[in-house]
Amino acid sequence: MNEDNRRGFSTCAIHGSGFKDSQGSLHVPIYDNTTFAFASTADLLDVVEHRRPGNLYTRYGMNPSILAVEETLARLEDGELALAFCSGMAALSALFLTHGRDGVICIGDAYGGTLELLESQLPLLGIRTRMILGSELERLDALLAEGAKLVFFETPTNPTLELFDIRAIAGKAQASGARVAVDNTFASPVNQRPLQLGADVVVHSATKYLGGHCDLTAGVMMGSKDMLMPVWNWRKNLGSAISPAASTLLSRSLRTLQLRVQRQNASAHRIAESLSRHPRIRRVLYPGLPEFPGHALAREQMQGFGGMLTIELDGSCADASRVADRLRLFALAPSLGGADSLATQPCTTTHHGVSPVERARRGISDAMLRLSVGLEDADDLLADLAQALQ
Ligand code: PLP
Repeated sequence: MNEDNRRGFSTCAIHGSGFKDSQGSLHVPIYDNTTFAFASTADLLDVVEHRRPGNLYTRYGMNPSILAVEETLARLEDGELALAFCSGMAALSALFLTHGRDGVICIGDAYGGTLELLESQLPLLGIRTRMILGSELERLDALLAEGAKLVFFETPTNPTLELFDIRAIAGKAQASGARVAVDNTFASPVNQRPLQLGADVVVHSATKYLGGHCDLTAGVMMGSKDMLMPVWNWRKNLGSAISPAASTLLSRSLRTLQLRVQRQNASAHRIAESLSRHPRIRRVLYPGLPEFPGHALAREQMQGFGGMLTIELDGSCADASRVADRLRLFALAPSLGGADSLATQPCTTTHHGVSPVERARRGISDAMLRLSVGLEDADDLLADLAQALQ
């Protein structure tokens, strides 16, 4: 084992790219160049023909700010390679266009944009997509037998925090010749490493925990060279690489990823425990609570229970809206993973376009509020929730 392989998560997050420039910069600056000059045609061809790595053209991702953040990102998910995109949806669409053309099976709930892409848009291109809920996992064998070559899922899911057994699903899918992609946005690589558990590809909306400050939009994909090099080509011609400015901001954010997520884990756990005893709350969905259905699996495949929790009020949709409107520290906003705590009522945002019947089938009640616990003091967040619930 060399010295680099023994290094811990935060050391890799800070020093993982090995980036050095002639100015002695400690962090990766924004190289806003669109193109890079070569000393000779022979030099240029070495890079164009991939005989040596180098900078060439920013849309290709061949730019120092982009390559540096990708090097770090690969280490954080134990991937051979990472590719960075201009959004999480750009990463997901490149994934499905590259590896999903023989059919995609999506397990469980997924982000609304992902569902729209899978259910309404990819079928327009002749791509077969099949959706099964966690309660219908027994259908997976039959769907795999139809020949789909990509199985995709989020774990934990939005907003019910349902967990899927990555090792078990990967074993089954790979035995039928399918590849497995996991959207690891909700957990972050601090809490879960799908590639170590047998997945072939990991994707993130880096807009969330990886970015961590609600000030950048990006997506990333990690995996083996075999899986990612074909995606690189699609990204090049879809024109969906991350920008140098967002890359630099993301490199900055990764330096504090472990600190942030560990704090968010601890605060969310405290809030979940406290709210689970609140008389106005029917249920708290949080993987760290012993009564949560996925708790045993969370202990097995996650290193932390995460900063996301969902509460279901003992009341109506209007009651949940009233609580949301009374929150002062939690902002009413539909994102997650940032320093600021956010609250969102799924039936008004992430699942607004889903029919009430379908929401009920997915276990999503209109009296639910999803909380993304930020970096404020947990006591202050608890006091804010207490006054809003009064
Ligand atoms: N995946 C998950 C789990 C998400 O929550 C989101 C957005 O909320 C996305 C993907 C899409 O990411 P982006 O908004 O960066 O395109």
